[in-house]
This record gives sequence, C-alpha cells and structure tokens, in this order.
Amino acid sequence: STALVWLRNDLRLADNPALAAACRDHDRVIALYIHETDLALRPIGAAARWWLHRSLEAMAHALAGIGVVLKVETGEAEAVLASAISGSDAGALHWNRRYGPAERKLDAGIKARLRAKGIEVASHPGNLLMEPWLIQTGQDKPYSVFTPFWKTLRNQEIARPVAAPSGRAVRAPEVDSGYRQPGWAGKLATHWSIGEAAAQDRLEKFLEDCVADYPDGRDFPGRAVTSKLSPHLRFGEISARQIWHAAQAFIHAHPTKAGAVDKFLSELAWRDFSYHQLYHRADIATTPMQPKYEDLKWRHAPAQLKAWQAGRTGIPIIDAGMRELWETGYMHNRVRMLTASFLTKNLLLDWRSGECWFWDTLVDADEANNPASWQWVAGCGLDAAPYFRIFNPVTQGERFDPEGEYVRRWVPELARLPTKFIHAPSEAPASTLKEAGVGLDETYPRAIADLKQTRQRALDAFGALSAEP
Ligand code: FAD
Repeated sequence: STALVWLRNDLRLADNPALAAACRDHDRVIALYIHETDLALRPIGAAARWWLHRSLEAMAHALAGIGVVLKVETGEAEAVLASAISGSDAGALHWNRRYGPAERKLDAGIKARLRAKGIEVASHPGNLLMEPWLIQTGQDKPYSVFTPFWKTLRNQEIARPVAAPSGRAVRAPEVDSGYRQPGWAGKLATHWSIGEAAAQDRLEKFLEDCVADYPDGRDFPGRAVTSKLSPHLRFGEISARQIWHAAQAFIHAHPTKAGAVDKFLSELAWRDFSYHQLYHRADIATTPMQPKYEDLKWRHAPAQLKAWQAGRTGIPIIDAGMRELWETGYMHNRVRMLTASFLTKNLLLDWRSGECWFWDTLVDADEANNPASWQWVAGCGLDAAPYFRIFNPVTQGERFDPEGEYVRRWVPELARLPTKFIHAPSEAPASTLKEAGVGLDETYPRAIADLKQTRQRALDAFGALSAEP
C-alpha cells in the first residue's frame, strides 16, 4: 500500500513520527511539500523562503537515501493533496501537527473530508517538547507565565526521539519549486550550513564547545556562545526533543555542566511557551494578548521606521543589530530585545511593524516565537516585561558589548572610535571623531531620538493605559 507524508515544518528523517509511521506501515511512501497558497495562511518571509528552498534540496537527498521521493508542489493544500492521493493511489496520509489557529483549522477540515472519502489520515506530535494541550495549570487553564510553565514542563517525561526509517536508496529528484535565488542569497549563504546533518553538527559542537559558557556569555552579542539552532528548529531540521535528549545525555557524561545545560534547556522551553500561546490565544501576530494595548496611540513616522530597518538610527548597538539581521538573516537575542524596545518604546512605533520586518528578514522567522517575543518586549504580551522597564540602548551596549566588538563588526564606520565612545559617538570630542574618521551626519547619523525624552513619552503613553482598571 502507498502512504503520503505531508511535510511542513519537519524537514528531517530522524525523530519524524509521521515519516516513521508511514514507512513502518506501508511498502511505498511518497513525501510531499506544498508551498501553500491558502489565503488564511501567513505567507512566509523572504529570508525564511530562501532557507526553505535549500532545506528542501537537502531533504530530497536525504529522503532519496531511504527510497522516498520528495515532490514539491505549489497551490492550495487540499487540492494538491487530493491530486497527489489520486495520482499515487495512496490510502493513507501522515503529517506532524502544526499549532497556529489558521493552520489547525485548515488541517482539521482536510482531515475530516479525506477521512470521509476513506483515506486514513494520522497527525503526529513532532514539533514541540510537549503538545500544548497536555500542559495546564492547577486550574486546568493554559499557562500565561513562563516560570510555572517551565517548572511543570521540566518534570514531564519528554518523549524519546524516534529513529530515522531505513530503505533502499533511489536517485534524488531535482527539486524545482520555481524559486529563483534573489541577489542577496549569496551573502546569507556564507553564514549558514543548511539541513539535518548540519543541524546535528551544530548541536554537537555547541554542547562540546559552548554550553559551559552559555549562562554567562549568552547575553553578550560579541561572543558566539549561543547555539544558533533557531533556523534549524524553525524548519524542523532538528527537533526540540532531539535537543532535549542529547542535552540529557551530555549531562550524564559531564555532570559538572548540568547547571549550564539546564539554563540552555530553559531557553529552549521558551519556544514551547511561545507555541503554547500561539495555540491557546487569538491570532498573536495581530492581536495584543493584553487587550487594553489595542488602544495605544502608536506614532506614524515612516522615515524613522526606515532608519531603524536600515540600521541608521545613530544608536550604535541598534544599528549593529539591524545590520547583522540584514547581512545574515539572524540577530543575537539580547540585541533583538534592544532593537524591539527601541522601536516600540523610544520611537513609539507599533510592534506589528517591527514584527513584520523581522518576519521578512529572519531566517528563523517563527510563527510563535516572533510575535510572542515582540509582544513580550512591547509589554502587551501575557508574561511581558513591565512597561516601565525601558532598555537604555547606550548603557545596555556598554554593559553587554563592553569592548564595542559587536558594534565594530557591524558598523565599520565607527570601528576606529575609542571604546569609551563606541556606544555614544555624539559624546566624543570633535578631535576624537576626526581622528577616528567619523563625521556625524556625514559618515554616521546623529541619534534619531533623544533617549531621555522618548523614554518619558513612552512611560506616559503606556502609563495612561496601565492606570486604567
Ligand atoms: P539559543 O540561546 O542557543 O537557544 C536555543 C533555542 O531555544 C533557540 O534556537 C530557540 O528555539 C529557543 N529560544 C531561545 N531563546 C528564546 C526566546 N527568548 N524565545 C523563544 N525561544 C527561544 N526566535 C525564533 O526562533 N524565531 C523568531 O522569529 C524570533 N523572533 C524574536 C523577536 C524578538 C523581538 C525577540 C526579542 C526574540 C525573538 N526570538 C525568535 C527568540 C530568540 O531571540 C531566538 O530564538 C534566539 O536568538 C535564537 O538564537 P539561538 O538559536 O542561538 O538561541
């Protein structure tokens, strides 16, 4: 019998329950990826699309190694599936679940209608440590605060990864999805290795070389001690459960590093927490989780939004982050927080405009992590930073990039400034600027916002809403 595996955010052979079940129960398996055009779904951003394309190539080769052909189609999911099922005479369809409201609705409809036609449809848990409905507060409610969520999650039995299926190799098909590499693709490619093998390699190197420094070093953007697994997780080239169990095995072999690994796993659990919110709340990319923030009077300042996007705000750590994003499709977490805070608090621009920019430019742009993190920074999320804690990007830069290493890497026009002024060039004496080759308003912009005044403006705007009952 023939089974179809509908791949979505799970481009891996190992710990892929849908693929494993199909290969176990059927003698012929066809894998299908659909570039979905259903209007209810959020279209993928440009940087993530680039990653996806490469990841599908890697997956096609990996699948061919076990005798499974990957087909890549474009269209509305249900129509593509129907034609793939009739074309292959498949009697079963397997997929790993997804959790966004629109995706769930779509999948549920497809499942019901195909089952009515006699097709066996099975959905599997493959993307998270724990399915969102399996974790609840003592009052049987979804969690809205991370710490108790994590306390509960860490005591659960996290399912062991399932083995990759085996089979006799066939020739890998050419994956032609009609995708044409954009001009900036070459630049991004220099920063990443894509696919399941690369993801496993990254995890192994991270545990061996970096995890011990993770608790202290993870906030310093100039140090490369975080795992950079986020785009691999985004496309499911590696699963959270694989990371979890590899980390447990590592603790077993290196008990002195248990504390550091635990810190890392708690960050990984934030991803599950974001999905918990995506699953249980209304559309988190468009709707503040605290409804009162719907009334916030965001400013309209297109030129400032553009300066932020281009990394030309005149605040070095902000510009470094936005340029890292543009050059690599990634930004360090601490700097994501600072750039998001600068946009939503100092510029008082709607968090959704920043969320959309990240959505388009991050290779790890994630339907749960991105909006949930933006809501956290903007203060409208459930477990959000209190609105009156507004980051000062200059003092944050001095604290977390003390030598200015990160700023110098991404804002080369400031590279020759003495460390004392690297985070606040306008405070440098004219002679120092001249010696460093920095011309304010010429080679580098003056700050587009006065940090003190804009901080007060944000306190007033947010405070007005927070005072309401
Ligand atoms: P590590 O520190 O090595 O962590 C390992 C994994 O744990 C990450 O890959 C990620 O899956 C998860 N993780 C770590 N920190 C967080 C966190 N704060 N929230 C949720 N999951 C976390 N992450 C995305 O994956 N996609 C996004 O689109 C995204 N957008 C963000 C937007 C803003 C404004 C902010 C503040 C954060 C965002 N994050 C996003 C979360 C976080 O910045 C990244 O997951 C992290 O920087 C990825 O780097 P890493 O893999 O080296 O992380």
